[in-house]
Amino acid sequence: MNQLERTLAIIKPDSFAGGHAGEILAMIEAAGFRILGMRMTRLSKAQAQGFYDVHREKPFFAGLVEFMTEGPVVVMALERENAIRAWRDLMGATNPANAADGTIRKKFGTAIDRNAVHGSDAPDTAAYELGFFFSGSDLA
Ligand code: ATP
Ligand code: MG
Repeated sequence: MNQLERTLAIIKPDSFAGGHAGEILAMIEAAGFRILGMRMTRLSKAQAQGFYDVHREKPFFAGLVEFMTEGPVVVMALERENAIRAWRDLMGATNPANAADGTIRKKFGTAIDRNAVHGSDAPDTAAYELGFFFSGSDLA
């Protein structure tokens, strides 16, 4: 507990296209995260496949890659005490239908496969995902 930690967050194509990036950033800042790095980009198919490699065998993999490449995303390196858990709590449940009030997915997610934001789920995946988008010298 009380450990300063980093996690990788993505504003997914649905919430970016919907004009919710500003409000999501405000929620991130209000929750006490420090934004160490932030970049708008558009994922290639190969990048999306590589990023979600752990899901390669899942039935929803092709649809997930299609969705993540349909438009621009904003990738962020966030820092806070217990950042991985805290960011997943602020995101809400994977399926927006099950997400708690006050969470980003409750507010902006529209379906399990269009759920507004991404967050790393453990220290090892956070390290992999941060390195996927940022080099150490990019981070404030
Ligand atoms: P993310 O990794 O995007 O932060 P998550 O960790 O809550 O989300 P995962 O289990 O890692 O959920 O699934 C990755 C993504 O794959 C989900 O965000 C969702 O968009 C999609 N996904 C997961 N389960 C399903 C499903 N049953 N049907 C369709 N899409 C799914
Ligand atoms: Mg995940």
